[in-house]
Amino acid sequence: MTLAVLAYVLLLEAGLILSTTCRGAGSIGGSDDARSRSGSDGQGGKGGAPGRPVWPAPRIGFPRGPGGGGSSKRETQSKKPVRKIITFKPGVSALEYNTILESVGGKLVKELPFVDSIVVEFPPEAAEGEELQQILSSDNVIAVEDDYEVQLLCFFRSSLNYDRQVVPWGVKRIGAPDAWQVGTGKGVKVGVVDTGVDTGHPDLKQNVKAAVDVTGSGSGMDYHGHGTHVAGTIAAVNNEIGVVGVAPEAEIYAVRAFDRYGRAQISTIVEGVRWCVENGMHVVNMSFGSKDESTALRMAIDKGLAKGMIFVAAAGNSGRDNSVVFPARHPGVVAVSAISENDRIASFSSRGPEVDVTAPGDKIVSTYKNGGYKSMSGTSMATPHVTGAVAVILSANPGITSRGVLAKLMEGAVRLPGLSRNEQGSGLVDVSRSVGASPEKKEAGAEDKAIPA
Ligand code: CA
Repeated sequence: MTLAVLAYVLLLEAGLILSTTCRGAGSIGGSDDARSRSGSDGQGGKGGAPGRPVWPAPRIGFPRGPGGGGSSKRETQSKKPVRKIITFKPGVSALEYNTILESVGGKLVKELPFVDSIVVEFPPEAAEGEELQQILSSDNVIAVEDDYEVQLLCFFRSSLNYDRQVVPWGVKRIGAPDAWQVGTGKGVKVGVVDTGVDTGHPDLKQNVKAAVDVTGSGSGMDYHGHGTHVAGTIAAVNNEIGVVGVAPEAEIYAVRAFDRYGRAQISTIVEGVRWCVENGMHVVNMSFGSKDESTALRMAIDKGLAKGMIFVAAAGNSGRDNSVVFPARHPGVVAVSAISENDRIASFSSRGPEVDVTAPGDKIVSTYKNGGYKSMSGTSMATPHVTGAVAVILSANPGITSRGVLAKLMEGAVRLPGLSRNEQGSGLVDVSRSVGASPEKKEAGAEDKAIPA
């Protein structure tokens, strides 16, 4: 299964998957049948004929998150306007189309030209009305989807204080300190699409190269805490204080797509991923997810994959089998489950055939907003361990392709006894093995140059 992520990247590189159309996205399913998509709402061009619009089933309220975040029930009434993302065939004038949509009460919220989409708000009665469905059944429309709310995938625990630097258990468990003799993530650009980052945090600021905002708030500052925690696991500075990240010299580019309450619409996530693709990020951390698919986000990610970027995402916090969330379950995205310190699957972690690797995700200490430190749990916390590992592999292998990085990541992973394939994918990430820095690898004579760069 974990080879699916490699196969998908290969197909993208070979141009066999059209990354910018729903047809291509539809063919993804075909190229990767083993990747079960249970839990999806069935929209998103998997089964429908190419070019046919996909009208999602009427939904009541927003999806309940697979943990953390805490979606509210306030959307369950139907008085509020309904927001849709409408994706067009390349070349179709979305704005021209919008004038037609205005005739049924549609109001343009924003344009997403990166993925040939617009976000339009409709009065509730118009949103489910026949007239609109007829307009959107045009061949010019690739997909119609709810602009749904995406969940962060974490639980909060206690605040912490340190007199001197500690190496968090997860950073140790994946072999990061051994790997630093070979690579520290230096020069690797890591996009963290999240709640922003505490740009002044003494254990991070040296590595935070930018903190941008795609929410419209005008600031990439983290007023929530999740993004700062994720950033710390990736690249907290190796100094005298606090904690240290997996890739302590990687460059953090915080892309604030979630508000201070940890809320984001999927269209804002699309904007965040667009920023990462257009600004040359090498790897993108996505510690969020939803049970629902999104054609627009798939298209944005596919554009990044086609450029050789690597995307790492949280498997979800449902604690059940066959429950890996989107975008983690999107082929080509590295899906990360979570283990506890005793090497068991974390009780909250989603599992499923889409899981590529597992990483520490329970009681993880890292940086937090306002210069603090906090212990948090969730597949949100496992994901940045893998993102950091990718950064270390990249810095240790100049010129390596994304395919090469993924191969090293998977081959270095250690199968944990007692965990099923659905729970751990290729196994627990071990970045020291992935870069050929682990003691046994050195003794055995490095075959780590076998992957062509
Ligand atoms: Ca530190």
